[in-house]
Amino acid sequence: VSGLSHSFDVIAKLGQGGFGCVYEVKHKYDGKIYAVKRVILTRKADSEVKALARLDHPNIVRYITCWPSSDNWTSNQERNQVSNTSSDAVTFERDGSEERDDDDDDDDEDEDVTSGMESLSVTDSGTYLFIQMEFCEGGTLTDWIKARNFMEKQRIIVEIHKIFYEIITGVEYIHANKLIHRDLKPDNILFGADGKVKIGDFGLVAAQTDQNGDPIERSNRGTPTYMSPEQKNKKNYDEKTDIFPLGLVWFEMIWKISTGSERVKLWPDLRDQRFPEGFSDSCQTESKFIMKMLSYSPEHRPHAKDVKEKLEKFFPLDQNLLSQKTV
Ligand code: ATP
Ligand code: MG
Ligand code: MG
Repeated sequence: VSGLSHSFDVIAKLGQGGFGCVYEVKHKYDGKIYAVKRVILTRKADSEVKALARLDHPNIVRYITCWPSSDNWTSNQERNQVSNTSSDAVTFERDGSEERDDDDDDDDEDEDVTSGMESLSVTDSGTYLFIQMEFCEGGTLTDWIKARNFMEKQRIIVEIHKIFYEIITGVEYIHANKLIHRDLKPDNILFGADGKVKIGDFGLVAAQTDQNGDPIERSNRGTPTYMSPEQKNKKNYDEKTDIFPLGLVWFEMIWKISTGSERVKLWPDLRDQRFPEGFSDSCQTESKFIMKMLSYSPEHRPHAKDVKEKLEKFFPLDQNLLSQKTV
């Protein structure tokens, strides 16, 4: 088994992060399109794939299988096929300020989601782990936020409630499985072929407590722009750290931010629970929820389950809509 070319043709490079590289591929034998993520084989990769394999939910990216390989697959295939398509295949420009703050040296033992289980190791069979998953053809929430500026207003309102409801449903499921995602942001929220939200990128997933049920000393890895204050401060944070970025995400879905400089100006205020003028008046219910989700202290933030229940109460969804495609 080596790399990808044994079974897949590469169609495009979908994204490249600190440690991962994601390709859109077509399986040579079953003919279907998949996404394959290549990560360096460390304990982190081990956590990512174990979490994905364990989670089975309509709002979480569906995992198929994984395999290790020492072939880093910068073969002719990648050079010829991917480089031709990669410039237009990359669907968004990364804002430097949102780069993931990844420090792989700080691969703390106690954060291992799989502690106690046998782990893969670099020396076992290769340097890379290839993770095959469902291809989310609807793109990312980053794409949706950009496209919303051109959508009709009524449609946006309806879609926001549907999308956010699915996000919170996926996060509720992650938390019910005693995990924390730790890197929720629009780039890591995708749309599947069924039009539904698929939460992806479990590269920073962690257990909520250690094996004794005690809090875990944690690192401040994550995306600074979206990270909760306690995650930035390396506190013994828990799953409430995932609620803070969701408040930011919900705001971004509702409020049009036209320019990068507007965003830079608005963002620190938003993180401090200060909304731009007009927001609280035009979105009274949402602004109250978002305010709570952005509470500085995690105890004051609602659980994913609470947010979901509130959404059901205040914005009951049309059941027909739930089966409709979003993108
Ligand atoms: P980051 O550094 O942002 O955390 P990453 O290297 O950890 O990135 P992912 O976030 O898992 O990797 O994937 C990178 C990008 O590839 C995503 O933002 C998305 O655009 C695309 N992508 C990932 N998984 C899929 C998928 N299953 N289907 C379609 N596109 C995907
Ligand atoms: Mg990512
Ligand atoms: Mg990642």
